[in-house]
Amino acid sequence: MASRYIGRFAPSPTGPLHFGSLVSALASYLDAKQHSGSWLVRIEDVDGTRCKSQYIEQILTTLNSYQLLSDESPIKQSDFTQEYQDHLNLLKQQDQIFPCNCTRQSLQAYQGRHPHICQSNELSPHSWRLKSSNVIYRYHDAIQGELIFQDDLKDNCPVLKRKDGYFSYQLAVVVDDHRQEISHLVRGADLIETTAQQLHLYALLDWEAPKISHIPLVVNQAGNKISKQNHAKAIQDGDLSTLLIALSYLGIEINASNITEALNKAIPLWNKEILRGRSTITLADQHLHLIQ
Ligand code: GLU
Repeated sequence: MASRYIGRFAPSPTGPLHFGSLVSALASYLDAKQHSGSWLVRIEDVDGTRCKSQYIEQILTTLNSYQLLSDESPIKQSDFTQEYQDHLNLLKQQDQIFPCNCTRQSLQAYQGRHPHICQSNELSPHSWRLKSSNVIYRYHDAIQGELIFQDDLKDNCPVLKRKDGYFSYQLAVVVDDHRQEISHLVRGADLIETTAQQLHLYALLDWEAPKISHIPLVVNQAGNKISKQNHAKAIQDGDLSTLLIALSYLGIEINASNITEALNKAIPLWNKEILRGRSTITLADQHLHLIQ
C-alpha cells in the first residue's frame, strides 16, 4: 500500500449528486486534505444497465461547483473491464469462484444470498460467484469502532461477474482501489455490509486493504437512506448554505462567506471522534436548497 495518504470519492452515476453523497464526498475530501493527502474522484459506472453518461457530467460539475476537485483526472470503471476480467481469471485459477445459473427467483428462499455451490455449468448463461468462506474478518473502523464480520462470507457467495457480462461493484472497487493505491476509504455506513467481501478479495489477491472508516448514513425523518433509489433530489450547484449544512452534519459548525473559505476552515476542524459510534444522521431537509 502507498505510504502516503490517497483518498477517493467513488460515486455511481445512476442519478445526480444528492445531499447524502455530498456529505460522503466532503468527509473523504476533508480527511485527505487534513492528512495533506491526495483526493481522487472515480466514476463507478461498472453497472452499464443503471449508469448514465449524462449523470457523469452532472456529478463532476456539481463537485467542481463545491470546489471538490480531484487531484488527478477522474477515471471511469467502464475503461477497465479487461483488468477486472484478468483478476476474475486469477481467482478462477485459484479455484475461488464458480459459475452459477441460478435465477433471482430460485434464490428467493435465501434472501438474495447464495448459500452453497450449485449444480451449474458454464454452458448455459451464468454469473461468476465467489465461493463461501468461513474466514472471520475484523478491523478497526476509526468511526464505527471494532467491526467483526462473522457470517458475512459463510453461506454467501457474491456475484463478481453478472450473467449479462457486467462486473460487480465488489470486484471492481477492490481492483480500482488497489491500482490507484488508495490508502484510506471514508464512505457511508451503508457500505459496511460490503466490507467483509472486499477484505476477502484483498486477502485472496494478496493485497493490503486500505484503512476504512464509515461515516453515519444520512437518513430522512422516516429513517430511510437518502439515496437515488429513494428518488433523492439533486442539490443545487455551488450553494454555500447547502455546503454549510453538509458540514454541520459532519459536526463542523462554521460561518463562511464563500465556498473556498468554508472548505479552508473545515479542513482543520474535521474530527472523526465527533461522529464516533453513530450509524445514522437524520436530515431535516426543509433547510436545503434542492432541485425539484
Ligand atoms: N459507488 C459506490 C456508491 O456510489 C461507493 C463505493 C465506495 O465508496 O466504496 O455507493
